Amino acid sequence: MPKGNLYVVSGPSGAGKSTICRLVRKMLGINLATSATTREPRTGEVDGRDYYFLTKEEFLKKRENGDFLETATVHGNYYGTLKSEVENRMVKGENVILEIDVQGGLQVRDQYPGANLIFFKTPTENDLEARLRGRKTDSEETIQLRLANSIKELEYEKEYDITIINHTVEQACNELKKIIEEKSK
Ligand code: ADP
Ligand code: 5GP
Repeated sequence: MPKGNLYVVSGPSGAGKSTICRLVRKMLGINLATSATTREPRTGEVDGRDYYFLTKEEFLKKRENGDFLETATVHGNYYGTLKSEVENRMVKGENVILEIDVQGGLQVRDQYPGANLIFFKTPTENDLEARLRGRKTDSEETIQLRLANSIKELEYEKEYDITIINHTVEQACNELKKIIEEKSK
């Protein structure tokens, strides 16, 4: 049975994970598995495309049913990867990218020891703050929470297989693309 590779991309909020993964996914025709979350949709986000937006009750019911590969509480909301988003694709030999937090990344590695764990960060803390603000999607309170959490998240970098420092979109895309292409040879 052919097996696809599994890539886990983590790092502080604002590090550029969605931007870079979206571009690389397009370039290589790779699926980004859609996660489930209990957080409110941001302007422009579409249910089923950006996330499956669930109520807390719906999320907990799915967790009880064993529908998730991993779950975590991040910035005060539940997030989780549905097994249905990952397993079928891997069995078909497709590569899958999971864009999830560090707690989830380690849970995935427990279940798939061959998963490739990739950590994203900005060149400096000031860049992280500037990019979070520049995104214009979050309230001041949310930005402060995400910046505070970034310090804890950065401690997990050492658990990851490789780090990409997101200096420019082009450079970070090229690095991620190269890692995936090398593994797929
Ligand atoms: P994450 O998914 O890790 O939370 P995003 O992809 O939303 O981060 O990126 C945060 C913000 O930074 C977005 O506004 C994005 O356009 C911007 N951004 C991403 N990469 C870069 C970069 N290399 N240089 C400048 N801005 C960037
Ligand atoms: P955001 O709310 O900005 O979309 O995501 C916040 C954080 O939740 C990010 O670190 C993101 O990677 C993480 N996240 C998104 N989906 C999942 C998931 O399915 N599982 C886990 N563990 N984290 C996730």
